[in-house]
Amino acid sequence: MTVETSAQAAYIVAALLFILALAGLSKHETARLGNSFGVAGMAVALVATVALAITSDISGLGLALLLVATLAGAAIGLYRARKVEMTGMPELIALLHSFVGLAAVLVGWNGYLHVEASPGGEEITLLTVEGMLGIHSAEVVIGVFIGAVTFTGSIVAFLKLSARIKSSPLMLPGKNLLNVGALVAFVALTAWFVIAPSLWLLIVVTILALLLGWHLVASIGGGDMPVVVSMLNSYSGWAAAAAGFLLENDLLIVTGALVGSSGAYLSYIMCKAMNRSFLSVIAGGFGIEAGPASDKDYGEHREINAEGVADLLTSADSVIITPGYGMAVAQAQHGVAELTRVLRDRGVTVRFGIHPVAGRLPGHMNVLLAEARVPYDIVLEMDEINDDFAGTSVVLVIGANDTVNPAAMDDPASPIAGMPVLKVWEADQVIVFKRSMASGYAGVQNPLFFRDNCAMLFGDAKDRVDDILRAVSASAPAVAGR
Ligand code: NDP
Repeated sequence: MTVETSAQAAYIVAALLFILALAGLSKHETARLGNSFGVAGMAVALVATVALAITSDISGLGLALLLVATLAGAAIGLYRARKVEMTGMPELIALLHSFVGLAAVLVGWNGYLHVEASPGGEEITLLTVEGMLGIHSAEVVIGVFIGAVTFTGSIVAFLKLSARIKSSPLMLPGKNLLNVGALVAFVALTAWFVIAPSLWLLIVVTILALLLGWHLVASIGGGDMPVVVSMLNSYSGWAAAAAGFLLENDLLIVTGALVGSSGAYLSYIMCKAMNRSFLSVIAGGFGIEAGPASDKDYGEHREINAEGVADLLTSADSVIITPGYGMAVAQAQHGVAELTRVLRDRGVTVRFGIHPVAGRLPGHMNVLLAEARVPYDIVLEMDEINDDFAGTSVVLVIGANDTVNPAAMDDPASPIAGMPVLKVWEADQVIVFKRSMASGYAGVQNPLFFRDNCAMLFGDAKDRVDDILRAVSASAPAVAGR
């Protein structure tokens, strides 16, 4: 068997491993296995690709560059993955998406320089004879466009998620017209480039796409960022697939299509979770700094201490915990898992209610709770638990804010109006863990904090959970078997 055939066989194995990885990652119980499949698939793909390059007519310099780039990339990747905090994952992912976009742009430009810009060259002659030159030119321009949109879009997402720029949307006059105009111009320029490829046309397409990517994400507001993250995930997949066509690499096409379509499906799920149409998210405007609703006087809030919460919990029949971004910041998940165990040992029914956009990543809370070994069967999605808050004794809102904001349902003027939320206020008692009265990610005031059945437990969520654990342990166990 030649290296080429072995590499093709290895590519099929890698593609299957990636499909198994996606299947595994879709359930808590199999997520670890799914991750291992993904790592194995990538290892097979890398070895096969490097072996193919080594056995082709690569120059000594090319080989040296390949090895240096592989080693440097692996070292930086390992270092970043070990260092990154869970709360820093969204911006790291956004940055990684930007690399995929940039790679697709470079592959596209490389394709142009080797073929269309080299008249009389071997490749252009071959493609012309086969009647495939037009297809190659279309691949170049489409790959560069998707790559450049992904590149700048991901950089803006990185800047917004890491709070280096404000998360409120950029509202240029006629912004929808600008986006549609850029798309129409792209279609026209693509047709032109296919008929008569030229350097200046490719430069114009690259600049247009860079500006469009920047504008698309800059005009999306804080509350819609979950959709942006999954949307850029999808774009990066299509960018990789486009690069795969140019490089004639089947594995890149398959992998890109897998990432592209799963990212698109995730965007659909996130839009459904936020009760938004995909098009209106792209058009932007959601998450604009709160209007009149934020100036409303909601009255006084009530405070409670850890001992008070411990008393409520030990005399409760049922407790629901709704975690949010603050639990991730405080790294309170292990204390929360321990509190859950202690309360369940005392006969209290404890369950978790997970909002689809809680935290800063799809599935963020599920990952943290799984890491802390909270049993999967008590971790429920919003739709599964939302009708159970009425009749629940105590709800612990641990570092969540936007996802439990009743204004989304009650106040049509609220910037998050229409977003489904966890109806925590229907419980007998709600305790909110946070450090201050500050607003959540969408920058919207939360009237929940001022309701009669709500009390604030101020401080770092981990410290407060530890205080409650101490107070619960110090109190006599309740009658068992309730
Ligand atoms: P929010 O971001 O709305 O609120 C988190 C709260 O946690 C803050 O109000 C903050 O209050 C509190 N907090 C922060 N640090 C601590 C700490 N150490 N201890 C205790 N509390 C703390 O969280 P939600 O999870 O409810 O909502 C997620 C938001 O993020 C939504 O708006 C969603 O659209 C957006 N988003 C989600 C993404 C996703 O994919 N899931 C991606 C990008 C954005 P204080 O400062 O007073 O402590």
